[in-house]
Amino acid sequence: MTNSSEHPDWSTSGFATRAIHAGQDPDASTGAVVPPIYQVSTYKQDGVGGLRGGYEYSRSANPTRTALEDALAAVELGSRAFAFSSGLAAEDTLLRAVLRPGGHLVIPDDAYGGTYRLVSKVLGAWGVDFTPVNTSDPAAVAAAIRPGQTAAVWVETPSNPLLGVSDIPALADVAHTAGALLIVDNTFATPALQRPLTLGADVVVHSTTKYIGGHSDVVGGAVVTAVGAVLPGGATGPTGSQTLADAVGFLQNAAGAIAGPFDAWLTLRGLKTLGLRMERHSQNAGEIALFLEAHPRVESVLYPGLPSHPQHALAARQMSAFGGMISFRTGSLESALDVVSRTKVFTLAESLGGVESLIEHPAKMTHASVVGSALEVPDDLVRVSVGIEDVADLLADLEQALGR
Ligand SMILES: *Cc1c(COP(=O)(O)O)cnc(C)c1O
Repeated sequence: MTNSSEHPDWSTSGFATRAIHAGQDPDASTGAVVPPIYQVSTYKQDGVGGLRGGYEYSRSANPTRTALEDALAAVELGSRAFAFSSGLAAEDTLLRAVLRPGGHLVIPDDAYGGTYRLVSKVLGAWGVDFTPVNTSDPAAVAAAIRPGQTAAVWVETPSNPLLGVSDIPALADVAHTAGALLIVDNTFATPALQRPLTLGADVVVHSTTKYIGGHSDVVGGAVVTAVGAVLPGGATGPTGSQTLADAVGFLQNAAGAIAGPFDAWLTLRGLKTLGLRMERHSQNAGEIALFLEAHPRVESVLYPGLPSHPQHALAARQMSAFGGMISFRTGSLESALDVVSRTKVFTLAESLGGVESLIEHPAKMTHASVVGSALEVPDDLVRVSVGIEDVADLLADLEQALGR
């Protein structure tokens, strides 16, 4: 587990094998089968500059974090991965590595509320401009791009909370034609179901808080760069390199929003079962989406696995299953608030992607930060994160909460 930027070639191994083994060789000194929690800030040097395995200080690198980063690079089939203290810390570091004052970003008009807040309220104050568009429409994205100024197109697919699906290869073409990067927030699909870097994206971001961690016990984020990805517009980064990973790695250390050793260890533990969990999340969600679509108190259901979803065919092409997130509309604010207050197995809470089922009201909870903006979500919308419990219990719970 040395701190190196070189990875073995994992591209010929299957997803589950990569998730369980990449970056996770038995510990060199003890044979420990699982990478230990290196709860340490500094490392003895064998003479000045004589680093063992490249470790010097844990903001720069820590062996537990290295294990997670190597595993994340392998599961996304990227060149390098960087683990952060939250999804938003990952986004912030990536965007500051890519953008300069006067730069421009195209973002989804249904982006995660925190992404919108970061771009509009934080980066906006540093002179970064942005245009929200419907990223399901590549022509709208092309029209929003300002050649020479747009550094990146940001896309979330499926999106939070409206479950919109966008065409990654088409958007990669649109972005690359303009010299911009395509950034994919892959939090909802996870690399178990969708690998954007193999579809043309330059970089992936994750809130590992969600499915990758998977147990609602840790907050974290990640950036994974594509092999060969460079900074937009031929720019040179602070290390004198044009490589995107070098610029992100520099800022991870220079700004320091790293994942701590215990958080990295929990996230790596979660990653090992991601493939299995996503199968069950997807299976349960598929059954629940059909149940909701047939229910008289539900007006519409947003789930990429339903043939009624406007981008169902695209989702089927781009994803190997449809994931565990469903949103539905009840027709009124009152009925939406009523449903979310009556479930007993689904817990009323923000966040998503854990083994347990959660339910929430985006307009008043997770997406309160976009009220009044172009990204405002309907107030009769309910979002569920379908867990991996027995589906009969989940169906019975929704049945009693919806009433007749
Ligand atoms: C939660 C979430 C984030 C932000 O991640 P944190 O870990 O909460 O900082 C970003 N994107 C999406 C799609 C999310 O669901």
